[in-house]
Amino acid sequence: MHTPFLCIFSKQNRYLYYKDIAMLRHFYTCMLFTVILAVVLFTSCTSRTITGKSADTYVIMLSIDGFRWDYAERVETPGLDYIALNGVRAKHLEPVFPTKTFPNHYSIATGLYPDNHGIVDNNFYCPELDATYRLGDMSSIINADFYGGEPIWVTAEKQDITTASYFWVGSEAPIKGIRPTYWKSYDVTVPFEDRIDKVISWLELPSDKRPQLITLYFNEPDRSGHNYGPEHPAIDSIVKYLDSLVGDLINRLNKFPSQYNINLIVTSDHGMTEITPERYVDMTGYVDRNWFERTHGGNPLLNLQPKEEYTDTIYNILKTVENISVWKRDEIPARFNYGNNPRVMDMIVLADSTWSVGWGEPTGSYYTGGSHGWDSEMKDMQTIFYAIGPAFKENHVHPPFNVVDIYPLIVYILDLEVAEVNGKLENIIDMLK
Ligand SMILES: [Zn+2]
Repeated sequence: MHTPFLCIFSKQNRYLYYKDIAMLRHFYTCMLFTVILAVVLFTSCTSRTITGKSADTYVIMLSIDGFRWDYAERVETPGLDYIALNGVRAKHLEPVFPTKTFPNHYSIATGLYPDNHGIVDNNFYCPELDATYRLGDMSSIINADFYGGEPIWVTAEKQDITTASYFWVGSEAPIKGIRPTYWKSYDVTVPFEDRIDKVISWLELPSDKRPQLITLYFNEPDRSGHNYGPEHPAIDSIVKYLDSLVGDLINRLNKFPSQYNINLIVTSDHGMTEITPERYVDMTGYVDRNWFERTHGGNPLLNLQPKEEYTDTIYNILKTVENISVWKRDEIPARFNYGNNPRVMDMIVLADSTWSVGWGEPTGSYYTGGSHGWDSEMKDMQTIFYAIGPAFKENHVHPPFNVVDIYPLIVYILDLEVAEVNGKLENIIDMLK
């Protein structure tokens, strides 16, 4: 038997710190009561409870890739509506720049901007390793040297919290020598239903093997958004399907006994916007690719390393090109939080909203349908955050916040010690009970 009292004591203590000193007198009364009960029940405490960890508290975080902030407003989404009614919904969630999958998932995991965690794009060159990171290349995916910061599962495992991941950027690499206790090599063919089954089976493990933090990832509606564009009716269908999976997951989580304090977060990494080859800037019309030592990235963001003698020529030419912005790395606007990491090259080119940029003719499907990666303040790049469980208020609509704030949120719920990160607890504290 677990005693909930020390857990409550711990949360109340922190809640007071952040919320309302006027409750102090009431707190001391509660504390006295709690201490008496704790002493009485001491022998039945688990070791985790004694060390201040909330042994019966769980966080399950699902990312639905590329779920634009307004998708749930287009069709009926009873699963997400249930969370909004009985939990928390953010007006929208702001991604980090570049608004791509790998930088954002790793910012959710670490609470850091890409400049500070090092995953500066889906593909990039790393000068200190003289190696290239590519999202489709398993040898780089599993190479811990690429990953800076400390993912939430590493923070938890270091503090004796068991974690599991059914896919997350970084979870396949032994970062700081640590992977989640249970983890999976990315396999896009595994049905979403099977991934949910596994999450449930992890929660059914005996308490000494049961993970308290589980990450789960679905690669839709991103794939459909790229293929069809965000306004296509196919998006409505996939959103309904994904919402039904969220509903199934909630139903199955609700069947666990109430002493499982299960908190479910449903979030995403970025939105999606419509693109067309008619709004395309061909770099080869302006500069010679031989003028560069390296070029990396993909629409709408190019990282460029000019040969030194061509730097000014390239810059002066690209400055005159419409529908793109060009910045030397020290000129990148501060709000992008981008350019201090040596993995960002000396010059970047970013297409304007809904415009594309690349090398050569816009052939194939790459420049049709939908894409993402633009300015993180662009409305179409905004995404979602929903959360439900004992930690969260009910029927609470939260002001927009940033993906980097999710790490301090989870740290708080699981009562972990944390290093300094870019995310701020003050941005999300009001959504908690
Ligand atoms: Zn995508």
